[in-house]
Amino acid sequence: MHRPAAAAVLVLSFVAAPVAAQSDPALLRRAERLLDQTILIDGHNDLPWEIRTNRDHPRDVAAYDLRQRTPGHTDLARLRAGHVGAQFWSIYIPGEIRDSGYARVQLEQFDIARRMVARYPEAFTLALTADDIVAAHRKGRIATLLGMEGGHAIENSLGALRSYYALGARYMTLTHNVTLDWADAAQDTLKHGGLTPFGREVVREMNRLGMLVDLSHVSPGVMSDALDVAEAPVIFSHSSAYAITPHKRNVPDSILARLPKNGGVVMVTFVSSFISDANRRADLAADSAVGAALRGITDSTERRRIAREVRAAHPVPPATIADVADHIEHVVKVAGIDHVGLGGDYDGTTDLPVGMEDVSKYPALFAELMRRGWSDANLKKLAGENLLRAFRQAERTAARLQREPTATIELRRSSRCTSGARRRCDSTQRRGGRRGPQRTCVRSWRVASGTARGL
Ligand SMILES: [Zn+2]
Repeated sequence: MHRPAAAAVLVLSFVAAPVAAQSDPALLRRAERLLDQTILIDGHNDLPWEIRTNRDHPRDVAAYDLRQRTPGHTDLARLRAGHVGAQFWSIYIPGEIRDSGYARVQLEQFDIARRMVARYPEAFTLALTADDIVAAHRKGRIATLLGMEGGHAIENSLGALRSYYALGARYMTLTHNVTLDWADAAQDTLKHGGLTPFGREVVREMNRLGMLVDLSHVSPGVMSDALDVAEAPVIFSHSSAYAITPHKRNVPDSILARLPKNGGVVMVTFVSSFISDANRRADLAADSAVGAALRGITDSTERRRIAREVRAAHPVPPATIADVADHIEHVVKVAGIDHVGLGGDYDGTTDLPVGMEDVSKYPALFAELMRRGWSDANLKKLAGENLLRAFRQAERTAARLQREPTATIELRRSSRCTSGARRRCDSTQRRGGRRGPQRTCVRSWRVASGTARGL
């Protein structure tokens, strides 16, 4: 999920530079043939949130009819046209929720996503394992997987994490855009310098469960700490390369270089401001111009009008398929061909490259890479083989770790820490909490089945 300040309609007002692959029908046909022979796995699509927030029929799974052309980026016909073989549906929930608990909203998003999958049995099959993905594909179904976007949903409880796994979550993005008690978000204040001891325990428990650790949205410090702790491959479900476009949501080279050892996969995302620096800079400039123009204006209608006008005066150049391909090639250059995948962020953004406007457009990207000389073998790795390999590796790690005792670490808040726990305290301050600054203690205790693993 990416909530851009940029208005997509303005992006579209630009005339796109011609991209060779888009106009080469032979390459497109070759790309489609290749995608018929392999499983295209996308790491991130926000359709469940799109259904929840639909203006006309909010939360109505039936009304958001995927058998028809939808107002968003995703429906059955376009998934088929895009040759999508497996999709991780993001069951995103905002980290900014104030009026209800995270868990309730998270459970509702599980419900929406699972009802959506069940509603189209001719198209979707819920997949819980790597083998499930392959089996669904053999039957001509789109394997559908669930990925939680935001560790705030566990409300500092490993028990909640385990329950979400039981409901079908197969990855969790450790943060969204809000820094947690135990992990820094890339686009929020960095409070911990990475993962706290409890945050490291979350990663260990995810490895034990077989839930992929998703490092999109987290700070580089969290990426690094998670790689230190992880025994299974990590993923980035929708991030691109920082060296090409210095956006905080992207992955630095120092992290990309660590992926071969970990086995992880960066699923390159298509969000324009993440993949085109010209787009990112123009977007920032438009943002600050709008901010300046709105200073002192309180009337909401007036604010909308001014924002529209100022944005129209600050057009944002579009990103292109070539930009996506450049990011993919950079990840390959630094991390290697075995560590790259795709995570479009469809229905999570309005900010998409020309030629990649919806889920039907993946063949155009493969055609562009073919034009650049990519082999079929490498294109299949990008499409899904890398993710399948990482998922299988995570399942094997989980099977090994499950022979160890279940972790019993819980994050407890208290106004003071006991001296015994002090050494292991996560110093933190809750923003917006009624009781003001608090310390967060991590405690472990012995249970019948054994001790918790080290903090
Ligand atoms: Zn996101």
